[in-house]
Amino acid sequence: MTNALRWNSLPADDAVESLDDRDRLLLDAVRSYVDETVVPARDELDAVIDRDSFPISVVKPGIDLGLKSLAFASEDGGRGASAVLLGLVVEELARGDLGIAYYFKHNWRFSQLVRRLPPALRRDVTKQLRQDPWYLGASAITEANVGSDNHLLSSNPELGVQLEARRDGDHWVLNGEKVMITNATMAGIYFVGARTDPGVPAESGVTLIAVPGDTDGISFGPPYRKLGQRSSIQTDVHFDNCRVPLDYAVSEVGRGLSSTRTGANTGSNLVNAFMSIGVARAAYEVALDWCTSRVQGGSLIYQHQLVAHQLGSMRVELDAAFSHAYCVARALDKVGPQELDPAAAWAANVSASEMVVRVARAAMELLGGRGMMAGWGTEKLIRDALTLQHGFGTNPLMLSNIGTLDSERVLARRRSDVR
Ligand SMILES: Cc1cc2nc3c(=O)[nH]c(=O)nc-3n(C[C@H](O)[C@H](O)[C@H](O)COP(=O)(O)OP(=O)(O)OC[C@H]3O[C@@H](n4cnc5c(N)ncnc54)[C@H](O)[C@@H]3O)c2cc1C
Repeated sequence: MTNALRWNSLPADDAVESLDDRDRLLLDAVRSYVDETVVPARDELDAVIDRDSFPISVVKPGIDLGLKSLAFASEDGGRGASAVLLGLVVEELARGDLGIAYYFKHNWRFSQLVRRLPPALRRDVTKQLRQDPWYLGASAITEANVGSDNHLLSSNPELGVQLEARRDGDHWVLNGEKVMITNATMAGIYFVGARTDPGVPAESGVTLIAVPGDTDGISFGPPYRKLGQRSSIQTDVHFDNCRVPLDYAVSEVGRGLSSTRTGANTGSNLVNAFMSIGVARAAYEVALDWCTSRVQGGSLIYQHQLVAHQLGSMRVELDAAFSHAYCVARALDKVGPQELDPAAAWAANVSASEMVVRVARAAMELLGGRGMMAGWGTEKLIRDALTLQHGFGTNPLMLSNIGTLDSERVLARRRSDVR
């Protein structure tokens, strides 16, 4: 596998040069970890079906590099990494294996939520999230009848999260089911979206509550069999009279869902964009290797104009998506998640996750018949690419949110002009 693209891509070089020496050293170490440990384990990772078949030895060197807690604040034992560093690291991880990128990055989204835990629990959770390979965080929002509705504003109280959290003395009691929850069987802590007021819209009636994985009453459905990113596991989770103290609420009571539509998810959307770029880069690198080795018509196939044109188109797409995501990452580092327009991160995510499908498909075509065969690289990459259009809501929903936000801004401006 060549590293040619990394060293020839101007926006990517610029991003690496923007890092300080310590971060650049980490990125180099991540690249070596990916090349030496993750890439050779790709087939094993693609064969994961449940917790028992997850090769924990593959993630251990990454944990030793501090990757599990990269986004955590230094007082929580993390590195407080910038958005640019998180993006470059996750791009490398996804270049190796998309599920491994999920393994590490899924914890990063909890870096703000752990700060709201009671101090003793916060210490315990952050220590295990940092060190224990089997201890992960999980975000439990989606329900069997509630998917996209959690990502849209509605005044109807019957839409959005329905899993119930009832107050009983100084405890919450949770009852209900969540579906397709990433890391479920490996999670030491769940951040559960729970209905604390059924009579009002979800926007003001859902609270995020931390539920430790060893709480009585948690059980799981069987793992889902999925198209791609197979080393990241999803199951349904049942909460049956699960009791946790009232101060385990990690959002303002009633305001749990508003964070999913505002700044709190900006960093995660951006990380998803860089994951798509990582998978696309892997596909481009496979294609470059192949087109500079395969001979047809008496010459290396890149010498056929159509093939070179296809490679060039892939590179243009990659550079454009990278530049977009990098620009948003820099803005995020400058102004912080509360100030950054959430549409900026949605746009970068949608753009990169649509691009990766086109690039992986082009790579598959360039490998001819072998492109579809397992073991040649592109067959796994196209499957992985096709799973990336579900981040925080589906891509159509994110586009709809961007269009709505911009239209409302125009209307607000018009109203203020009239006044
Ligand atoms: C690999 C993977 C990992 C996941 N991990 C987690 C996790 O860790 N935690 C978690 O809580 N959830 C998780 N999910 C669930 C994910 O968040 C949902 O799949 C997503 O929110 C979409 O919900 P849905 O699947 O119910 O689709 P639906 O909401 O049923 O949507 C079906 C289709 O209808 C469209 N649609 C829906 N509503 C509208 C509308 N109002 N206007 C226009 N079009 C609409 C959608 O775009 C989509 O195409 C995961 C999903 C996947 C695939």
